[in-house]
Amino acid sequence: MLGHGGGNVLGDPRVRMTRPTEFTFTFSHSAPEDKKLKEDLRKDTHYIFDNMSWRKIIDKDSTSVDDLRDIVSDRWSRPRNPFDEVFPGIFLGDASAALCMSILVREGIGFVVNAADSCSRCLAGRNCGTCVRTRQAFYNVGNIQLKAIAALDEVGFPLYWYFNEATEFIDNALATGGKVLVHCREGISRSATLVIAYLMMKKGMTAKEAVRLVRNKRQIYPNDGFLLQLCDLDLRLRGQRKY
Ligand SMILES: [Zn+2]
Repeated sequence: MLGHGGGNVLGDPRVRMTRPTEFTFTFSHSAPEDKKLKEDLRKDTHYIFDNMSWRKIIDKDSTSVDDLRDIVSDRWSRPRNPFDEVFPGIFLGDASAALCMSILVREGIGFVVNAADSCSRCLAGRNCGTCVRTRQAFYNVGNIQLKAIAALDEVGFPLYWYFNEATEFIDNALATGGKVLVHCREGISRSATLVIAYLMMKKGMTAKEAVRLVRNKRQIYPNDGFLLQLCDLDLRLRGQRKY
């Protein structure tokens, strides 16, 4: 089911990648778990993913992880609702919302993006506790179309591989006048990042604008790696990547 095609990130020919065939892989290089890297993330030094490695860049004008972290962490507490409409037609929510057909039908949801589809461990029968296993068959009764993305909420996970795919799905959903629920386990990290990427790619928002907009509607908290990928997307979209 996975591993089809290369994830050509935003059409950048330098960044052609093959999707992982399973998600137990780890990056062979040093990722932001490193103490040094974490310290750097708090300064003006930015790291970006480039061709399966983290590359250090210095660009004081660009949006940093710290900038985005400041926006999301302001008076943060856990989300109160299973889901919130964060943009007209886009609902951001948790597993309970995704699994409750009566909520979906009541809200008129016609499309669901599951950003927490089963990882390789779950597929092997061992529950990792962070995946939400859903099937298209479950949604057929509500005439709902499912898009499943097996992402892990980890700093080293390349969620940006799926930015194009999720964005196109959301865009097509809205274009037909439909409403879409984008969810993961808690509706705060994986799914929030995909919605932010959509707003940046299709609505012309900067990373800060998109993060602020979503954060005003729901208590999101994407992990540092995802925020970094949004910083990178910000640079790419504005054509200001200088490296
Ligand atoms: Zn899992």
